[in-house]
Formats: sequence, C-alpha cells, structure tokens
Amino acid sequence: SSLIEIQKVFRTYIDTNDNKVEALNDVSLFVREGEFLSIIGPSGCGKTTLLRLLAGLDSPDSGSLAINGHEIREPGPERGYVFQQGSLFPWLTVEKNIASGLKARGVYKEQKTDVARYIELIGLNGFEKSYPHQISGGMAQRVAIARALINRPSALLLDEPMGALDSFTRADLQDKLLELWKRDQTTMILVTHDVDEAIYLSDRIVIMTPRPGKISEILDVQLPRS
Ligand code: ADP
Ligand code: ADP
Repeated sequence: SSLIEIQKVFRTYIDTNDNKVEALNDVSLFVREGEFLSIIGPSGCGKTTLLRLLAGLDSPDSGSLAINGHEIREPGPERGYVFQQGSLFPWLTVEKNIASGLKARGVYKEQKTDVARYIELIGLNGFEKSYPHQISGGMAQRVAIARALINRPSALLLDEPMGALDSFTRADLQDKLLELWKRDQTTMILVTHDVDEAIYLSDRIVIMTPRPGKISEILDVQLPRS
C-alpha cells in the first residue's frame, strides 16, 4: 500500500521578470511504505519544489499530496526534513539541536534517553556538548538527520543532504543512511543530482525533466542488499 500519494500536482512560480515558471507540471507519484526512493534530475527540474510540498512548506496550485491518507497542509512530525546544509541552530549544542526536533512536537518525556540513543546511532558520542561550528560538515548532516528522525517519522525527506560534502564524507554518510533505513524501515525520499548515489541507495528512482518539471521515468532498482 502507498504511504504517500501525489496526484496531478501543478506548481507555477512568477519570477522577478513576471514570467511564469512551471516548476511542476502534472506530477503524480505513489510512494510505498518502507521504500527508499530517489528523485534525480538536472538543476531546476522541480525536485526541491516537490520535496517542499511533501514537507508542507509550500502548497500546490492544484492536485493533492497525502500521507497515510491525510492531506498534507503543513509540516508535521510524521515527516522529517533534512536540507543540504546549514540547518542546525548555531547557538545550540549537538544534543540540544537534536532535542529541538522533539520540542517541536511538544514532547519532553524520555527526551534525554532518546537524544542519547540518537547520538549513539549517528556515531557522535563525545560531541554532545559541541556547537555546530566545532564539528565537520558530515557530522553536522548526521545531527540534522538525527533531529529529523527523533520523532520517528513515517517518511524522511532529504534534499541533497550530501551535496556539500567531499566524496569520502559522502560515502560515509550514504552508508549511515542505509544503516538507519535498514534498522527502522523509515520511508526515504532522497533528492539528488548524483546518479551513482541514487543507484547505490534506492529501491526506485524517479527521473524528472525541467521546463516544465515533469516525471519522465520511474526505474525500479531493487538492488540485492547484504
Ligand atoms: P531543483 O530542486 O530541481 O533544482 P527547484 O524546485 O528548485 O528545482 O526549481 C524548479 C523551477 O522553479 C526552477 O526553474 C526555479 O528557478 C523555479 N523556482 C523555484 N522556486 C522559485 C521561487 N520561489 N520563485 C520563482 N521561481 C522559483
Ligand atoms: P483531525 O481528526 O482533527 O483531522 P488528526 O490527528 O487526524 O486530526 O490529523 C491532524 C493532522 O495531522 C492531519 O491534517 C494530518 O496532516 C496529520 N496527521 C495525523 N496523523 C497522521 C498520520 N498518521 N500520518 C500522517 N499525518 C497525520
């Protein structure tokens, strides 16, 4: 059964020259529960727009997006969102950044053990009291992922989370992401322009083309995983 149902979504922007930009043109997509889906395509094809709609940070002009049968209207704890970089609160420590995900939900119980568990999971033991500027870019992305996962979302939405990392750190984070996915079976939706990354990580790959932003193909990858 589908966790996420995207049906006939259109989204047009007006640019600074008053021209219409069709960011998404009749996009429909069903995402299975527990699937690792990647969305690839050139810059400007509408990947971020689609992810922002799923996150509830933006609304379609027409069409619908739903998760678990609930229409998506705003951000919600059942959807974690990770940006490319720089999304941590610079004035909060690693553990407080992770806990800030929980606070957004208004849940304080078991906060300490939950945060400690996620710090362990992402391999940042010893960095609990560090501030974002004191850790590497790869570590910062792990923290952002932990913050998004601590609410145990049904789906994790990832917008080029490895785009700003060097190739070694990227490979490391890809494996961490696979490990977390296998562990929790969280549905993953990854936006990337890195085809190799998509093939390495995904069950399915959606290819988008720009102007207008459309899904041109959906590939089943279903790699055997050790
Ligand atoms: P991608 O993530 O694939 O690079 P985007 O979703 O960011 O693509 O953008 C899709 C298209 O919509 C692009 O042509 C982009 O310039 C345009 N666009 C995105 N956001 C806005 C905005 N806020 N105002 C105007 N145009 C936008
Ligand atoms: P109501 O019965 O007032 O609609 P709900 O708790 O059913 O309240 O839903 C409130 C909002 O929370 C919904 O609009 C939906 O976006 C979100 N929501 C609640 N439960 C889920 C869920 N299991 N999966 C996805 N979204 C949910």
